[in-house]
Amino acid sequence: MSPQLGEIAGRLLQPFVEAAGPLAACALVFAVLAWLTKGPRAIADARAAAGETKINAVISAVDAIAVDPLLAVGMAAVVAALVSHGLQLDSARLWTWIGRWPTIAAAIVLGDLFGYWRHRVQHSRRLWPAHAIHHSDTHLTWFSLGRLHPIDRAGSLADMVLLSALGLPVWALAANAVVRHFYGYFIHADLPWTLGKAGWVLNSPAMHRWHHARDVEGSGHNFATVFSVWDRMFGTFYQPGACPGPLGVREDLGQGALGQYAHPFKVWWRAIRPGELRLSS
Ligand SMILES: [Zn+2]
Ligand SMILES: [Zn+2]
Repeated sequence: MSPQLGEIAGRLLQPFVEAAGPLAACALVFAVLAWLTKGPRAIADARAAAGETKINAVISAVDAIAVDPLLAVGMAAVVAALVSHGLQLDSARLWTWIGRWPTIAAAIVLGDLFGYWRHRVQHSRRLWPAHAIHHSDTHLTWFSLGRLHPIDRAGSLADMVLLSALGLPVWALAANAVVRHFYGYFIHADLPWTLGKAGWVLNSPAMHRWHHARDVEGSGHNFATVFSVWDRMFGTFYQPGACPGPLGVREDLGQGALGQYAHPFKVWWRAIRPGELRLSS
């Protein structure tokens, strides 16, 4: 292999090398928790989820190679535009005054509030075809967090843009992103936990499973990621206990990861193309 090819291969592999450690740690932690909670049934459940896990792995790999770098550049450009147009609140003295940990707490609480409303918008009729990819997983596991269409992921950056517009420091935004990411793994985990009294404040795996439920009363509820208080406050809370399923969506999203990437474009094209009657008239 020539040195140039070696360098290109190294760059392509770098995102996987960086992600491998945290992903392996999460896989181990959630496997142990599933075994302690469900015993041997955890293995049967993991086997049943294997097909969906493969699709999640392909989408996560494409994200690491192509989508993440693009979104990082887009996010940097949007924040730079906020600053240059004077649209960022001059709140640096406030965050310095309240200190590091309260600032991180503020970023997480506000980020989850923004995320709650952004997620509700993603469930609107026009944006649903992209968000449906996340809901198409019929065997939810911690890894299902990564099943997101690139357009859906781009929309999710709205939370960060709003936090940035409030003038929150970059390190607080980074802390919020890390907490939301790993708490996101937790609520997608195949665990029947409601978190008991902590569930009055925090979102739980059972609560988010109801969000992914198909054709039952609980679907279309529980939009927040970290806290349950926003859903309680805005009337979308649903938590009668562990969710028995079924999970997924009614519509056909196509085969495999490629079919899922194409799905929203097909739906939107069908919606905007001139109708046959109009064409022939
Ligand atoms: Zn959703
Ligand atoms: Zn989800």
